[in-house]
Amino acid sequence: MAEPPELIQGIHTYCDRWCERCAYTSRCLQFRLEAEERGTGDALQNFDALNAQFWQEMGVALVQAMRLIREIAARAGIEADDLQSETAIYASSGTLQRDAREHPSASAALIYAGMVNQWFAATDELSDTGESLLTNPPHVLEESIQVIRHYHYFIYPKIVRAIEGRLSGKAASDREIEADCSGTAKVALIAIDRSLAAWSLLYGEYSAQEDNTLSILLHLDRLRRSVEVVFPEARAFIRQGFDAPYS
Ligand code: SF4
Repeated sequence: MAEPPELIQGIHTYCDRWCERCAYTSRCLQFRLEAEERGTGDALQNFDALNAQFWQEMGVALVQAMRLIREIAARAGIEADDLQSETAIYASSGTLQRDAREHPSASAALIYAGMVNQWFAATDELSDTGESLLTNPPHVLEESIQVIRHYHYFIYPKIVRAIEGRLSGKAASDREIEADCSGTAKVALIAIDRSLAAWSLLYGEYSAQEDNTLSILLHLDRLRRSVEVVFPEARAFIRQGFDAPYS
């Protein structure tokens, strides 16, 4: 029998906790332990390659999403705003967590979660079938909706955690905390990218909702840029296994 693949130490630290869509279940100790606990063995390992392909395809959709956003912005005469001053991180006399929650990037992530709820509620109201899009999505949009749903409430806490870490790291000038902030911000950015890709696939599918879909795309794009300004090192952060071969 073939040896199981070597585990990648700490791979789950900066993952999105979406094991069903992860391409590294066979190399993740966390997954192995949880699967043992559930008694589901290694069933998902067979999907690693399929999942890798799925995310590659979403990567192509993201490129198209960015093109779409640029076109829309150019048509509407929207210019990229300067996010530098808005996204600076200041500690007030409040708690770290409250300061983090009140940061513009965190607020924008929370607003996004509300926009998603409103979009689905409005789409369901307009539906002729009376069926909910969340529970009965059309086959062709099923995966995009899964992506939106998975990251719907994921982005906000990740951004809050990264900002909170930055605030505490500022006091302690701790390199480890800084690295953790970058890793956490990177996971948030990936979730935003994937959500953008998924929304771009929905754009045009629901004509009555086109303006709202557009607002979500523009809002997410702005959020993505604001997180990049706050955490300029995040994109370059290397997550073992995901971003670099494990050594
Ligand atoms: S690395 Fe993959 S398999 Fe492991 S916990 Fe994260 S999503 Fe699940």
